[in-house]
Amino acid sequence: MRKNIVAGNWKMNNELSQTETLISDLKKQTKTSNAEVMIAPTFTNLWHAFEATRDHDIEVIAQNMHYADSGAYTGEVSAEMLKSVGVKTVILGHSERRAYFNETDELLAKKVDAALKNDMRIIFCFGEELSDRKSNRHEKVVESQIKNALFHLSNSAFKQIVLAYEPVWAIGTGETASPEQAQDMHAFIRKTLANTYGNDLANSVSILYGGSVKPNNAQEIFSKPDVDGGLIGGASLNAEDFYAIVNAF
Ligand code: PEP
Repeated sequence: MRKNIVAGNWKMNNELSQTETLISDLKKQTKTSNAEVMIAPTFTNLWHAFEATRDHDIEVIAQNMHYADSGAYTGEVSAEMLKSVGVKTVILGHSERRAYFNETDELLAKKVDAALKNDMRIIFCFGEELSDRKSNRHEKVVESQIKNALFHLSNSAFKQIVLAYEPVWAIGTGETASPEQAQDMHAFIRKTLANTYGNDLANSVSILYGGSVKPNNAQEIFSKPDVDGGLIGGASLNAEDFYAIVNAF
């Protein structure tokens, strides 16, 4: 059974006191939908966020991790370290990691394996650039991103995978894929999964949309049959806006 999920990616925002305030504001909101709610604070605030949400159904997740268990990787954080502060889910493959930190499909495949080895759930992000869409290559690009990083996995591994389609041209730009563009791509992703892993698996994987989702457009996007929720950047930094999106199902 696939789940509805709304995950807030806080990126490199909110130091400790801002994290405390935002979590306290989030806890005052009322959830009227069945969506699972996740927030991804920066590494330094994960433990605090985990403690602060112990009595709440918000899940604290990480924005990234390294593929090694430990060792000489200055500045990096491993799955084991994330697990030790209560984190069970990690975002991998965000377009900002791909663009600014040169994360390739090959590297992401290693991170995926490391997360799964540690029993972590993964929100795996991918999406095309504007030039890909303009040249009608968006499906090809997305297909290869998914296949290269995930299609070595067994059927059972997909229980731990959530997909997040995030067209790069819509992230942080105020520009959103139309609900129809999102639906078309999500249906294509599901078909791609079905071709290799079968319909049951394809229908069991949650596929989130990300890219300038806001309270005023969430409902229309989430109403599409293959859209199972959202990965939210900017609007996740405001508790009321974030819960307006959570409640848009
Ligand atoms: C994101 O960073 O994953 C994202 C979707 O950002 P925004 O909602 O700000 O476009």
